[in-house]
Amino acid sequence: MPSYAFFKNKYVPLAEAKINVMTQALHYGTAIFEGIRGNWNAKQQQIYFFRLKEHYQRLLNGCQVLRIKLPYSVDELCQITIELAQKCAFEEDIYVRPLAYKSSEALGVRLHDISDDYVVFIIPWGRYIDVDKARCCVSSWRRPDDNVAPPQVKIMGNYASNALAKSDAVESGFDEAIMLSPDGYVSEGSGENIFLVIDGKLVTPATYNNILPGITRDSVIKLAKNELGLETIERPINRGELYIAQEVFLTGTAAHVTPVAEIDHRQIGNGEIGEITKKLQKIYAEVIRGNNPKYLDWCTPVYKK
Ligand code: PMP
Repeated sequence: MPSYAFFKNKYVPLAEAKINVMTQALHYGTAIFEGIRGNWNAKQQQIYFFRLKEHYQRLLNGCQVLRIKLPYSVDELCQITIELAQKCAFEEDIYVRPLAYKSSEALGVRLHDISDDYVVFIIPWGRYIDVDKARCCVSSWRRPDDNVAPPQVKIMGNYASNALAKSDAVESGFDEAIMLSPDGYVSEGSGENIFLVIDGKLVTPATYNNILPGITRDSVIKLAKNELGLETIERPINRGELYIAQEVFLTGTAAHVTPVAEIDHRQIGNGEIGEITKKLQKIYAEVIRGNNPKYLDWCTPVYKK
């Protein structure tokens, strides 16, 4: 099935969306990206985008930080994505990759006096962490300090650091890296936030622990409260707490809710998927596919019925 992109203000076949090698963002990582899932509901023959607006609001926040001016509002970015998905006409889980970037074909490290551009494309995409239970390690690569590069927005160049952590982890036999903050507290995975279950309560690093404030993280906090009556404590977490938590799981658009069975060769709980993790996984899976009427305002249908 051919895919399409929205590129330079037009819908074009994905293969035709090409940039020049001199594009400034390619050299200095001066771009903001997003990752959005469209979840296929076979029974309804429908794709639901999950929390589309929130993703585009975060994209525009990143643009504000990197001084990228886009000529589109959040609503317009949503509308473009819906039209693009209708054109692609996939009948499976899809992934949307918007990218706002410094587009001048000019070298020089800077943000000013550079033009901006925007591209978004869609590809079919299934599982990201391809195991039922992840084995993780604490990475020697740390998250950036806010005064190095703000970690709370998706700056493309920052992800070289996450790639260092991920490849070290995978090539050492783990599924994912857990990165610490510059001051040594638990921060997050290379593309996911992290939750611990301690004494039956959810605990997750606070926004000031150099995390990307995930939209899945926010959803899980709300679902845990509304559906299971569980509060989430947002606070700094010591590395040692990882090893003795009853349950650990990762959350992200790509990774959904992924249980963690092992960290640094220490089994978490009994090494099986924990009870709270299992419940949240199930609730989340129904919500993102538009199967829970209470959360339909988080779901944007692609196809007109
Ligand atoms: N942290 C990092 C570093 C990420 O790249 C992501 C993926 N966007 C997340 C956390 C999870 O965020 P979200 O739930 O919004 O996908």
